[in-house]
Amino acid sequence: MRDIQIETLLQKELVRQRQGLELIASENFASKAVMKTMGSCLTNKYAEGYPGMRYYGGCEVIDEIETLAIDRLNDLFGSTYANVQPHSGAQANAAIFLALLEPGDTILGFELSHGGHLSHGSPVNFSGKVYKPIFYGVEEESGLINMEKVAKLAELHKPKLIICGASAYPRDWDYKRFRQIADSVGALLLGDIAHPAGLIAGKQLDDPIPHCHVISSTTHKTLRGPRGGLILMGEDFENPWGRINKKGEPIMMSSVLNSGVFPGMQGGPLEHVIAAKAIAFEEASHESFIEYTKQVISNAKTMAKALKSKNYTLASGGTDNHLLLIDLRSKSISGKKAEKALVKADITVNKNMVPFDDKSPFITSGIRIGTAAITTRGLDNENCEQIVEWIDEALLNADNELKLHHIKIEVNRFMGQFPLYQDQ
Ligand SMILES: *Cc1c(COP(=O)(O)O)cnc(C)c1O
Repeated sequence: MRDIQIETLLQKELVRQRQGLELIASENFASKAVMKTMGSCLTNKYAEGYPGMRYYGGCEVIDEIETLAIDRLNDLFGSTYANVQPHSGAQANAAIFLALLEPGDTILGFELSHGGHLSHGSPVNFSGKVYKPIFYGVEEESGLINMEKVAKLAELHKPKLIICGASAYPRDWDYKRFRQIADSVGALLLGDIAHPAGLIAGKQLDDPIPHCHVISSTTHKTLRGPRGGLILMGEDFENPWGRINKKGEPIMMSSVLNSGVFPGMQGGPLEHVIAAKAIAFEEASHESFIEYTKQVISNAKTMAKALKSKNYTLASGGTDNHLLLIDLRSKSISGKKAEKALVKADITVNKNMVPFDDKSPFITSGIRIGTAAITTRGLDNENCEQIVEWIDEALLNADNELKLHHIKIEVNRFMGQFPLYQDQ
């Protein structure tokens, strides 16, 4: 039986994705193989537990799939421990917190209003309710993290866990220095690479694996896989709390983390998504993916340069990765209004707080732009200059419906050259 209502809506969404310029920094277009696998018979299978240790029968094939996903992920990042079961990035972080911390423990993370993530101790998230969050931020002048201030905060508050990683920080991270700071106060270091994971896999950014005790990520942002999460460790190690098992042996972090995910945070894993993750990890190991990640960064740098030439202010003055944070305070338009105008022109972005923003999270003074999705569509540096022309035109004419409509028609015609999911 067909569900015409949902089919019609799916088709509408496909048209929206095809015709528009997708500049949301956390989005991408997964391959057809990834999408097809998410719609496979694997969705029917319960498989609580881990390969070889399941609470359900009939998991022989599932075990092979999950083991393949783990092996491919470890190959991709040069890690030795991987958990592919987290349903999302936030859930991966929740599982890690649950595994490593006791309620009331102090955590040190990146300030949300400076580009951090809700799951790193925001008061509206469980992480900010169960644990005691302290935040480091960027400098008002440079827009960069001052590592000496991070060190001072760590010294002062003695966190159990330090988190590096963000959702709207356009620069790379000094993982080595973060590790020194963590070691100096006896904290564990979590690297949340949800955003740059693909660029790290493509070897275009600093490698966090040797420096972070634990890594969390999503699989659907620059990594271009299905919607999901993961956890990694470069090397397994004995838990630092002296916990022992029934045989009197130290409990290893791998087993602490596995228990954090299941049964700690989740029930049955999404094996259809895990199979799709395995496909994405394989895709990301190809030379063509490395080329893709180079182009993502090159496109972002081109947009940064073009925006600056039009007198836009960029948080931190530019970018090292796939995203830009435009500070609109000098252009007297709010993030909310800018987002609305751009969306009318089929240029999809999100409003975003900028560091030291005087507006609320619902209004904001900035917009965040990312190049991961458009680069998957095949857009190059020259195209990115054209995009900046459209953005500028739309923002200068934010109240002019007719003008915004004309830009939309141009955008739609332009995107017609870049096919997406052609046979659907
Ligand atoms: C996106 C993101 C997450 C959360 O991912 P979800 O899959 O949306 O739960 C976690 N941490 C950071 C830094 C992110 O950017």
